[in-house]
Amino acid sequence: MAKLTGLQIQKLLPKTNCKECGSNTCLAFAMKLAAQKAELSECPYASEEAKQILGAASEPPVKCIELGVDKKLRLGEETVLYRHEKTFVNQTALAVNINDTDSPESIEKTLVSVRDYVLERVGEKLRVDMISVTDKSGEPAKFANLCARAFEVAKRPLVMRSSNLQSISAAAKAVKGSNSVIASANPKTAVELVKVAQENGHALAVTAPNLDELTALTAKIKESGFNNIILNFETFSLSEQFQVNSITRRAALKDSFKALGYPSLKFIDGGEMFDISTDVINEITKYGGICVLPYFDPAMLVSVMTLRLNIYTDPQKPIQVEPKVYPVGEPDRNSPVFITTNFSLTYFIVSGEIENSGTNAWLVVPECEGMSVLTAWAAGKFSGASIAKFIKGIGLEEQVATRQIIIPGYVAQISGELEESLPGWKVIVGPQEAADIESFVKARIK
Ligand code: SF4
Repeated sequence: MAKLTGLQIQKLLPKTNCKECGSNTCLAFAMKLAAQKAELSECPYASEEAKQILGAASEPPVKCIELGVDKKLRLGEETVLYRHEKTFVNQTALAVNINDTDSPESIEKTLVSVRDYVLERVGEKLRVDMISVTDKSGEPAKFANLCARAFEVAKRPLVMRSSNLQSISAAAKAVKGSNSVIASANPKTAVELVKVAQENGHALAVTAPNLDELTALTAKIKESGFNNIILNFETFSLSEQFQVNSITRRAALKDSFKALGYPSLKFIDGGEMFDISTDVINEITKYGGICVLPYFDPAMLVSVMTLRLNIYTDPQKPIQVEPKVYPVGEPDRNSPVFITTNFSLTYFIVSGEIENSGTNAWLVVPECEGMSVLTAWAAGKFSGASIAKFIKGIGLEEQVATRQIIIPGYVAQISGELEESLPGWKVIVGPQEAADIESFVKARIK
């Protein structure tokens, strides 16, 4: 359904201007609904007709698909084409593939590697989200047993990939309750596979030779009452995949085209590491829902997961660490005290460099709304007075015996104010760049 305007929505409201929704008039409320800044449930007098019409119109342009036993792996729900317009919401899920013809040793090794893989970046723990199991044997029991084993070991939702209806049915039953993905239904197998997906609670990836046929297929499946759909495009090059991903997302967001308003699934079946990485990057930056890697490669995961973290971080909310005093190493009461801001990146770089210098120290991190040192200083959040207030508030003077504090070189100008606000303390101006902390420590502290 096309997006409704505020005036069209107002015609569906009671028009009593009772204000119970928090807006002064029904028209004002209708305008908020049109801008997706309010929900119809806030009007207690909305008619059934209004709920039906507006419910369909207010569905997210890209449907949310929930996967996993706890349904915590969410795909879709995006509302903008470009991250800087607002933010991207649900990051591209990364899956690692195994084939049912691989050796048992290699399968176990991959499953355990995926289960145990954790990459820490700016305080976030990043993991592989899914396991993809591909039926290459054509043997239903073998494929189903492997799906069950993969789910048991890796404890991740699966992408079950087979063109054999019997194999898919057996596997879907074997991991019922895992909220996994069946891949992929085509115009010939859709009716049967919708039934299998429905009976076992899985999402269904659908595919067709071109976008027109795919659109017709998703519309037909939705009409049948099943809406747990993922789009699996048949593409044969990076540029084609880029184009199809972009056309689909634009159609869903800009034209409210519901038949393409679903997250996508992309299998990367092999190739050189550089080509695989490029395909993954395309999916992460251009609207991919699930991206299946052909094998487990920690070196590749480091780079693509770091990229994914950057793309899916809300640009309006800097990543922050909790304002407090952090021990670096095993400091005691006489260890030096450094200070920096609570912008995650700044904190992790500074604490890492202190650690590299081999000294044990305290790192004081006051509340700076997640800003970097110079930005926080310019905004008045990292002044001598505010730092002193924070230090007194957390009782640092009772925690440490030292009365020297090392401030970042970029804010040397706050040293006078800080000394005035913290009587008895000596302020030492540290290096401007975190990379120089090690030489600073060697020259001034050790
Ligand atoms: S609560 Fe409903 S009827 Fe009352 S003003 Fe708001 S939209 Fe109108």
